[in-house]
Amino acid sequence: MFYFLEAEFWNSPTLVAMFVVSLVAVIFARYLVVSIMYKVVLNLIARTLRNSFRKNSHQIKSEIKWAFLSSIVFTVLCTISLLLYQYNFTAIYTQVDEYSSMYFVLSPVLILGLYETYYYWLHRWMHAPRIFKIVHKVHHESLKPTVFTAFSFHPLEAFLQFLFFPLIIIIIPIHLSMLGFVFALLTVCAVINHGGFEIYSAGIRKHVIGAAHHDRHHRDFRKNFGLTFTWWDKLMNTESLKE
Ligand SMILES: [Zn+2]
Ligand SMILES: [Zn+2]
Repeated sequence: MFYFLEAEFWNSPTLVAMFVVSLVAVIFARYLVVSIMYKVVLNLIARTLRNSFRKNSHQIKSEIKWAFLSSIVFTVLCTISLLLYQYNFTAIYTQVDEYSSMYFVLSPVLILGLYETYYYWLHRWMHAPRIFKIVHKVHHESLKPTVFTAFSFHPLEAFLQFLFFPLIIIIIPIHLSMLGFVFALLTVCAVINHGGFEIYSAGIRKHVIGAAHHDRHHRDFRKNFGLTFTWWDKLMNTESLKE
């Protein structure tokens, strides 16, 4: 079904070059499409609430530029992951019945939980003053994040964030479609977190990070380091729920 999973594909430098360029375009377009769609939804909500949402064209231009560089970094690591798959170094599987259907459904939950742990500690480390200046400052230049801040990272940060995936697929079996689902979910959640408008109910917010939680992190660098779930912030006492 996917020609890029076949060994012959990787013997053709032209096909591989075309694939890499297309992958940058697909990853960047996915970010833009999800961000713009969510922005349209927020604008509709704003009109209903007679409110106005953040518009800072200078900031947004800079965010999209950094997001494009992040897309290139993600592509490099995706390509490395596909090469690892080609040489049978990964536990990725493509036949649903290779593992139980329960495992098929639960494996993305496992990957998301592990990624949350990886991200929380990576994020805390990136706030160490010397590292912050080199790696994480770009993301925090958006004091009031917009939907476009979701992928706005220094290339080194993009690399460190995504490095988890080529490593985890060596260890944890996951169906290719579920890996795609994890990427899509993380993109949607990142856009929602940076949208500047809280859409989750109080009950959901106890476990899932929304815009209020992450806005606070962009203002107060000492709190709210989580990515998608609040669990590590609660456990490490780094959560602040003040608006
Ligand atoms: Zn941060
Ligand atoms: Zn952020």
